[in-house]
Amino acid sequence: MDAAMNPNVAEQSFRCPVCRASQVLSPTCRRCRADLDLVFRAHSTVDGLVARWNQAASCGDGGQQSKIAQQLRLLAPVRLQEQGTGDR
Ligand SMILES: [Zn+2]
Repeated sequence: MDAAMNPNVAEQSFRCPVCRASQVLSPTCRRCRADLDLVFRAHSTVDGLVARWNQAASCGDGGQQSKIAQQLRLLAPVRLQEQGTGDR
């Protein structure tokens, strides 16, 4: 466990749905070797959407923001609330 190597605490708190081991999110569980590729890709997609949402927000592109918010609402409603986009 070297926290200094990974400043992103949120990703380190990922828990394997199979064996419950806490770890950095990766395509394979470090302990039980479960295939977490779909989970990994879903998280990457959500991160990309959040980045695009922030970009649209900084450009003042409200139409694009609400389009991205609709996708986030389906994939990761919690992330949407963290972004403060849920009440639009
Ligand atoms: Zn596991």
